[in-house]
Amino acid sequence: MDRTIVGDRFDAGAQYIDGALRPGTSGDTFDVTNPANGELVQRVDLASTADVDAAVAAAKRAFPAWSTATPAERSAALTRLAAILEERAEDFARVESAQTGKPIKLTTEFDVPGTVDNTAFFAGAARNLEGKATGEWSGTHTSSIRREAIGVVGSIAPWNYPLQMAAWKILPAIAAGNTIVLKPAELTPLTSLMFAQACTDAGIPDGVVNVVTGKGRSVGEYLIGHPDVAMVSFTGSTGVGTRVGEVAIQGVKRTHLELGGKAPFVVFDDADLEAAINGAAAGALINTGQDCTAATRAYVQRPLFDAFVAGAAELFDSIRLGDQFNPQTDLGPLVSERQRDSVAGFVERARGYGATIAAGGFAPEKGHDGTDLTQGAYYRPTLVTGVAQDAEIVQQELFGPVLVVLPFDTDDEGIELANDTPYGLAASAWTTNTFRALRATREIQAGCVWVNDHIPIISEMPHGGYKASGYGKDMSQYSLDEYTQVKHVMQDITALARKDWHRTIFGDR
Ligand code: NAD
Repeated sequence: MDRTIVGDRFDAGAQYIDGALRPGTSGDTFDVTNPANGELVQRVDLASTADVDAAVAAAKRAFPAWSTATPAERSAALTRLAAILEERAEDFARVESAQTGKPIKLTTEFDVPGTVDNTAFFAGAARNLEGKATGEWSGTHTSSIRREAIGVVGSIAPWNYPLQMAAWKILPAIAAGNTIVLKPAELTPLTSLMFAQACTDAGIPDGVVNVVTGKGRSVGEYLIGHPDVAMVSFTGSTGVGTRVGEVAIQGVKRTHLELGGKAPFVVFDDADLEAAINGAAAGALINTGQDCTAATRAYVQRPLFDAFVAGAAELFDSIRLGDQFNPQTDLGPLVSERQRDSVAGFVERARGYGATIAAGGFAPEKGHDGTDLTQGAYYRPTLVTGVAQDAEIVQQELFGPVLVVLPFDTDDEGIELANDTPYGLAASAWTTNTFRALRATREIQAGCVWVNDHIPIISEMPHGGYKASGYGKDMSQYSLDEYTQVKHVMQDITALARKDWHRTIFGDR
């Protein structure tokens, strides 16, 4: 085990319940490994259902005081949390890179600062809940709106951005006065536990933030079905999200589902070709393509098609794979060999039905820095052409460093193809014509449409899906709508014993 990165910090256990690390009591363990070389990073003791009960009970006990703390008090705690996360940035970046294989430049410049900024944003947002103006809307009552916390939130997160996903789930929930039990993905629990520890260190009361680590089918499903969990928030695949929705509806729980994506990248014939090629490589390959908003399907208008494919292939071939802790490394491995094999399977099947592989399409043996890549889950950035719109590689989420490029002729066709998958999380349009850009942003069915860029996110703006990409918003003020319920308070101002409206029942007598 590489003690230089994780050290002995999880010796007390890998459950964070009621303000402290505790051992999981299931008797099962899970080995968190570095996917770059298969080495053990941390053996994690997994939660039993009794541990989930303890975490939910702690969250339930903490709810009355936390939900009635003033927004200023919650905001102050989140401000301290942002400062602590920033102080520990390097540590978070290293552990995140170790458990996921992410290049250190990505965790240092994106995952960790993004999380710090989200935390600072929610410190402010906690003091800015909104609603309709109080007023005498009926003429005979004063109506007002209360926006109230929901209770204990049960959250489930995926492995692709473990720290950011933990932050996206925990921050709006607790900013709005809820308490939470989060289950990270079994592959990547470590930075979620560190985040919970930082919450305690920031003075967030015990029980407000809890993390249980365990398997989805057992621990995850038990958590979301727990009778004391009032709301379920889930980020992950559409398949598992559908199951989560089925379990949650049994308890008629508020449910927020952030699911898969298959983002189109539409290049019109007036686009800046160099910008589009750079944007396609960055948008498709960020996080080794394991990004729910990654560019996965490029539709390029016929006059630019050949030049786009040639330029993108050259750029893909220049990407440096290697040791994720080398600051020059562009891409690390995928999160696991299983994920790499699944991605390779999509590409092999595409070859089988006649696709052209314009770049990549294999697992490399040596990195740019001489690292032996054969023990890791590496896969070269891959560009695929010559497939039909209904091919599985165009329609299904494969979650790896693979971009498929297809040509189109008319603008109508480009937009129609962009909308032609079950997903609707994100999309981009590349054009220098303002009318084409406006049309694309209006007609592409997705929760986010970029123009002349692909990927950037910002704390102030919402992230969430259309269609099979789910519903509800993460980040921004909109996420506070998910984590609060609106109560209408209506108070009589006439002091009359017999109200005017009583005539509809008995008042005409
Ligand atoms: P996944 O759906 O396999 O697993 C997600 C989480 O669900 C894990 O913690 C897992 O343990 C848990 N789980 C599995 N079965 C469960 C069950 N029956 N009940 C409760 N929990 C269960 O997803 P993944 O492979 O970890 O992550 C990749 C997926 O996440 C991709 O589809 C990606 O698009 C999606 N994703 C979406 C967003 C978004 O914002 N829309 C963001 C990141 C990732």
